[in-house]
Amino acid sequence: GNYSFSPPVYPSPHATGAGDWKAAFARADSFVSQLTLEEKAEMVTGTPGPCVGNIPPIPRLGFNGLCIQDGPLAIRQADYASVFPAGIAAAASWDRDLIRQRGVQMGEEFRGKGAHVVLGPVAGPLGRSALGGRNWEGFSPDPYLTGVAMEHTIKGIQSAGVQACAKHYIGNEQETQRVPSVGADNSTIEAYSSNIDDRAFHELYSWPFADSVRAGVASVMCSYNRLNQSYGCQNSKTLNGVLKTEFGFQGYVMSDWGATLSGVPAIEAGLDMNMPGGIAFTSATPSYFGANITIAVQNGTLSESRVDDMIRRVLTPYFYLNQDKGYPTVDPSSAGLNALFPQSNWVYHFDLNGTTNRDVRDDHAALIRELGSAAVVLLKNTNNALPLKKPQHIGVFGNDAGDLTNSLYFFIGNFGGQYEYGTQPVGGGSGTGRLSYVVPPLDAIKARARKDGALVQYILNNTMASTDLTTLWPPAQELDVCLVFLKTWATENFDRSSLEVDWDGNAVVENVANNCSNTVVISHSGGVNTLPFASHSNVTAILAAHYPGEESGNSIVDILYGDVNPSGKLPYTIAYNESDYNAPILNVTNPGPNDWQLNYTESLLIDYRYFDYNNKSVLYEFGYGLSYTNFSLSGLAVKKVSSGDLTALPPPVKVVPGGNPSLWEPVLKVSTKVSNTGAVKGATVPQLYLTFPATVPSGTPLRQLRGFEKVNLSPGESSSVQFLLTRRDISYWDVEAQQWRIPEGGLTLSVGFSSRDIKHTTTVRAL
Ligand code: BGC
Repeated sequence: GNYSFSPPVYPSPHATGAGDWKAAFARADSFVSQLTLEEKAEMVTGTPGPCVGNIPPIPRLGFNGLCIQDGPLAIRQADYASVFPAGIAAAASWDRDLIRQRGVQMGEEFRGKGAHVVLGPVAGPLGRSALGGRNWEGFSPDPYLTGVAMEHTIKGIQSAGVQACAKHYIGNEQETQRVPSVGADNSTIEAYSSNIDDRAFHELYSWPFADSVRAGVASVMCSYNRLNQSYGCQNSKTLNGVLKTEFGFQGYVMSDWGATLSGVPAIEAGLDMNMPGGIAFTSATPSYFGANITIAVQNGTLSESRVDDMIRRVLTPYFYLNQDKGYPTVDPSSAGLNALFPQSNWVYHFDLNGTTNRDVRDDHAALIRELGSAAVVLLKNTNNALPLKKPQHIGVFGNDAGDLTNSLYFFIGNFGGQYEYGTQPVGGGSGTGRLSYVVPPLDAIKARARKDGALVQYILNNTMASTDLTTLWPPAQELDVCLVFLKTWATENFDRSSLEVDWDGNAVVENVANNCSNTVVISHSGGVNTLPFASHSNVTAILAAHYPGEESGNSIVDILYGDVNPSGKLPYTIAYNESDYNAPILNVTNPGPNDWQLNYTESLLIDYRYFDYNNKSVLYEFGYGLSYTNFSLSGLAVKKVSSGDLTALPPPVKVVPGGNPSLWEPVLKVSTKVSNTGAVKGATVPQLYLTFPATVPSGTPLRQLRGFEKVNLSPGESSSVQFLLTRRDISYWDVEAQQWRIPEGGLTLSVGFSSRDIKHTTTVRAL
């Protein structure tokens, strides 16, 4: 089970249109039969054009090409588009409906701009290391929560007629050395290899990708890094073996930008589309694909039937989503915003005659505001500091409170995100969005305070706020509330260097709290922050507001003033100190060509699984979050759903998208009842955790999330909650059998309000 190399799996399995893709598959097949060999090569090779990825049109067949755009929280390369809350914020809501709606509305915006494919959502990084630079683009280090979020995001996007692309497959858990570099003597220093054992591969990292395939995802993006020594986009085990055989994936594998490192070997290992096409990003030639595919077929190195399979895989989702009928043209403004492809490099004609500068935002700000609030996790609230009760003297502190000062766009070529002044609504790199506006917290606070006739004072300079509050009148000691806004920058291409908030924000909290007895701290961050001020007695409330998108200020004011009752729960663990976390970022000094070996020695024990297994206390545990009301859970019942006896291993039946269909059959039904016992209306998230019996091999986490449900309740109201557990949910990956196995012995099921706030527990035998 311990992978130190990636076993070869050949040949590449051809798609069959399994699932409900049969009719679309037949249309793709007849399309392929009309193509010349040169056209076939074009269909799988990106080319410079108006979008971040482009497949050229074939006018004689009425095919207008494919426009592929970033990314996971917005159509980035666009004007008049919305910037939604980040993946981590969506996960913190634990709200399937809001996550689905976010997908739907993003899909509508991509479609409105003529983009056929969304480069998202993200399940890799999963979040092995708290310092991962791109964790915020994805959802949670818990694979179950991420899997649910992937499913709903994909279904949402695709319901709008747009293809989703689950990325980055797989083991893309750090940014440092994600791509090869050049060593001192001009040798190639290979990208890091994520060395993952078979159980962790299945039970953690590939789990949400299986959910994605099951949800019908059109495409999967293979990652830059190596997995068990073999590069992500030419790894026959992960592509041919796991994705296309075990998971039954019928769509296409697209390379990350520049992650294609060969032609025929990558194709035979399962890669179906090379992006952006040329070896150098910006120009069409030379390419590992393109003309080399034609040559390889002609000289017999590559079978034409595999090329046909690649195109059928590309076009089946296209026809399935009816993208051939009346699809909007690419908004011409994309071309001008595209820094990747100067028009002088285009080799094909792309139609830029459609309406330009289309406003696709619609009324999406309402959902963005709502989800931005739902993503806020209330970590501390002493003396009922929150919600605010019409405070008359308000102090606002910190460089995250005010408007943006450098730019509305945090793209990779422009590390403008590390600006000192201005709120942090999203992170940077390809997963960012181009803001058409942002509501800064200070503006929203001012607007709200005006209604109460209140006075708002502020010091946005962190150096001053952490040293000198003497300019305030009334002074800090007499303010009703002091709101401190902190921020933490995270971006593609870099891992975070620390878990602390940026710009010495801790010193601001310390100074304000030493002078103001009602200090409320709000952080905008892409994930974990250590909170050294958490026990300060004047810090009365702490809110983790994540990256909320463009309505940031409104989202937080709704929570602060109690218009919205906080209901977010941590999708990760906040420990006391950075040194409490395991799974650090690998850094190698003076590396040799093969020295970047990232060994996942912790195996299954990441985030709360690690802290629980080692019985370490933490500041705020996974799944935790307060409300302005109280809830109780009563009763816990388990029923077997399946008729007849279960076998330990799933019956060997024909694989469908997602894998062996019996893995997805519900086998147990767990029910409990949740009540709002407080005075105000609010939502909470009952959570179900599974503990495996001792018959499961060692290193198994103590408790693993296997169900959750967001429930909205009025005071005094109760609701019953049901969790359906599938065969996969109660199985572990048996490395000998190469199957999911239901263990002998009792399964312990616990329900509670967090991973450590367990209310009821019961044990059941499934076999
Ligand atoms: C990123 C992808 C992104 C692509 C296109 C790559 O650097 O890793 O997530 O979709 O660029 O911008």
